Amino acid sequence: MRSTIRRAEREARRAGKPRVRPLQAIGTVAAVGALIAGVAFPAYAAIQSDTEAVTIHDVAAGEAQSLVVASEVESPELTGSSYAATTPEEIAKAEAERAAAERAKEQAEAAKAAAAAAAKAQSSSASVASAPSVASAAAPVFNGSFGSPLPGGSYYISRSVGGAHQGTDMVSPAGTPIYAVASGSVVTAGYSGAYGNLVTFVGNVNGSSVEVRNAHMSSIAVSPGQTVSAGQIIGYVGTTGRSTANHLHIEVRINGGLVDPVNVLPI
Ligand SMILES: [Zn+2]
Repeated sequence: MRSTIRRAEREARRAGKPRVRPLQAIGTVAAVGALIAGVAFPAYAAIQSDTEAVTIHDVAAGEAQSLVVASEVESPELTGSSYAATTPEEIAKAEAERAAAERAKEQAEAAKAAAAAAAKAQSSSASVASAPSVASAAAPVFNGSFGSPLPGGSYYISRSVGGAHQGTDMVSPAGTPIYAVASGSVVTAGYSGAYGNLVTFVGNVNGSSVEVRNAHMSSIAVSPGQTVSAGQIIGYVGTTGRSTANHLHIEVRINGGLVDPVNVLPI
């Protein structure tokens, strides 16, 4: 009886002994390594080909002369005319707009941070209707004739044309990029009394002469005589000159006549 129990115990110990010998262990490691390689490398290859597919898409889109702004920066209000580039001028314009949108995209993060700080500061002021929402701040918005002077969602309008006030005030954080609302050439780029740092440019939109004044900039990004494209950065929001808060004061004249920017710009 006792010897039977001992035999059973011996057998149990044998059964419990690790059966993997060193050579087998090396074989197991090699097998697992092969398994990892088999799974991981095709997956890595898949990631690589995805990246290439995006690049090819972008190149193809560029060659097809279509604007790829919408897919890249989530600009919500692009019109059909933004895509329909058929003449060399339109293609160049679309390219400029796309490049501007890409630059804006890079600056959007900085603008968001500045806007968050400004919104916090403004929340204590009773005269402020609402803080600017920058959730969708990314790029200028185009309406077929003009672009917006500030990134969509980065501002609110506090005042427009009325009485002696000949422009629209767009409250936005200091440093927010200001875009040319149309293509043209820079007439004024410098400090100008009550306007502070002012950029005035003249262009031609749908056969009409357009003059645009952009005031109170913190800094100016263009020079007199320089050609600008719609959507190109011409300066940054500030509060220079006769101004009490960071904002863009923008005036638009069409064929010499003052117009209310809110009626013609996509703002
Ligand atoms: Zn103003």
